[in-house]
Amino acid sequence: MNRRNFLGLLSAVSLLSPSWLMAAPLPGVSHCTLRHQGDLTSLVLDLAGPVQYQVFTLSAPDRVVIDLHGVAAHLPPGALNFAGTPVQGLRSGPTKTGMRLVLDMHQPAKAQARLVSMGGGHQRLLVDLPVGHAAALMARHAPAHGPRQRPAVIAIDAGHGGKDPGAVSGTRHYEKTVVLGIATALHQQLSRDPRFHPTMSRDSDFFVPLHQRVLLAHQRRADMLVSIHADAAPSRSARGASVYVLSAHGATSAMARYIAESENSSDAYAGVFDSTLSNDDPMVSKVLVDMSMNATIASSLDLGRMVLGHFKQVTNIHQSRVEQAGFAVLKSPDIPSILVEHGFMSNPYDCGRLISHRHQVELAQALHTSIGDYFHKYPVHVA
Ligand SMILES: [Zn+2]
Repeated sequence: MNRRNFLGLLSAVSLLSPSWLMAAPLPGVSHCTLRHQGDLTSLVLDLAGPVQYQVFTLSAPDRVVIDLHGVAAHLPPGALNFAGTPVQGLRSGPTKTGMRLVLDMHQPAKAQARLVSMGGGHQRLLVDLPVGHAAALMARHAPAHGPRQRPAVIAIDAGHGGKDPGAVSGTRHYEKTVVLGIATALHQQLSRDPRFHPTMSRDSDFFVPLHQRVLLAHQRRADMLVSIHADAAPSRSARGASVYVLSAHGATSAMARYIAESENSSDAYAGVFDSTLSNDDPMVSKVLVDMSMNATIASSLDLGRMVLGHFKQVTNIHQSRVEQAGFAVLKSPDIPSILVEHGFMSNPYDCGRLISHRHQVELAQALHTSIGDYFHKYPVHVA
């Protein structure tokens, strides 16, 4: 999509009536298939009611993003057949207003969407994915195995390390040591689970700058980032676990900074938005990245709620709702990211538990279960 079309689409969307926001219950996607005829592949979504949508493409890696507004964030079960198509995989996740679908493409594709009325209030959204002839030939000769799910890559980020001890308890216990214990236990558990491929930003006591942690997650193509911490508070009485995700406000200024940083480099951040757009119009890039970020925050909130639900079984909860703040380590525009404070180093009761191996393993198990729940709800499909 060129810039003018994209901006046209944005202004069209902003004029839409918000009445669908009030409707309850939300209609859902009743059927989802990939249709492949000749050189043309189309994603076919059947919907039980009216829908507003936006479709745009991103490059490096090539993706087609479909945002559906006013629908329930749930895809019907059943695998898609990607064989012989330019589509590599399909991901989905909730957004503030509905659901986002991301098609991972083998090669650049244009995307043309149209809505067809099927009668009885039912609608069909067709997203045509025309690719060049050479690309179509390549896709046809791709190995024709059936659809499957690949292991989800989980970036486990143990906070602090090396010269940065993190929070220090009255008894001189360091946050950096506690969080490495929990991170290591989580890594061991996920390694034994075929659904996951865990990777750590540090596996011993060394310092990693915050932006490097985000960069590592991108370089390792993580599907999720879990940053592991333990709090400190001026009052010794504060105790229990909290979960944080990025606030949209923080994201906006953070991405502006990332855009500036990536302008003269080809680092991994450049891959999260269309680099041609970023070079000649920073405003449009920012809009694209913010749209991506807002969708990611909604997914992160969902994951955060799952973690709090499972943490209730093993520890006290400090904040019963997922909190939002501008943590630098959470500023990935397209990876659901949470920061978990597992308890207070400054609270003698919490600290006593946090330094015990048994409790570290228990917390890691609760994280493991939550991550499992998340990918059960939003599986990663590949061809
Ligand atoms: Zn910390």
